Amino acid sequence: MQIAGRYRLKYPAEWLHHLFWGALDWLYPPQCGGCQTLGTRWCSQCQSDCRRIISGCPRCGRPEASLSSVCAECAAQPPAFDALRSWAIYTGPLRLAILRLKYHQDVGLGEIFAQSLIELYQQVNWPVDLLVPVPLSADHAWERGYNQSTLLARPLALHLRIPLRPRALRRTRITQAQVGLNAQERRENVSRAFMADPRDVAGKSILILDDVTTTGATMQACAQALRDAGARSVYGLTLARAAHPSPDGDQQP
Ligand SMILES: [Zn+2]
Ligand SMILES: [Zn+2]
Repeated sequence: MQIAGRYRLKYPAEWLHHLFWGALDWLYPPQCGGCQTLGTRWCSQCQSDCRRIISGCPRCGRPEASLSSVCAECAAQPPAFDALRSWAIYTGPLRLAILRLKYHQDVGLGEIFAQSLIELYQQVNWPVDLLVPVPLSADHAWERGYNQSTLLARPLALHLRIPLRPRALRRTRITQAQVGLNAQERRENVSRAFMADPRDVAGKSILILDDVTTTGATMQACAQALRDAGARSVYGLTLARAAHPSPDGDQQP
């Protein structure tokens, strides 16, 4: 069976996961997360309106840089992760759909967008032992009841047959929302905000999953925590990336 004509479901657990979401669509007819068209979780027009990221810094994935050499920032201070890539620019229908996924309980979008991450992962093909979603702070998880990064990571884990460890990384303190902070303030806000469990990650190659990268500060803080706990290598995939990080971004840390 093929989803959206892009990849085949290979394993029974993937089938069950997909059937579950298909049954929910049948019970509660969906609306497109980008344009609100009825009858689909994500329409082909919104999919084709996404601005795919096809080049960027080979280390941090910054879209405006060239793929042939690392950007000035990575050259001056290499990040704690080995590489970071994002599927598309955080704008237009993709941005609206991510906001719905995060703040309006539109959780079926997680399965849809995981397919884009699978596509992206198959291009980069990093050697990975474990998938770890960026954790929400305990109060956000309690309010929302789910973590959008885990919703993106689970279908990826099922498809790639790589273990998912949502508890390998946790927040050590409450951070304020990143909205309205500049790059330096974002770094300080999330610095030492995460801790990883060495029993899960020591000696392993880890892939961190998140929905949006703005300045890369959250990814850097997570990667540093994993390194401190002995991770051998750390990679990051996010669904979307701000083209020109601005303090007015509307995503949470
Ligand atoms: Zn649409
Ligand atoms: Zn870079």
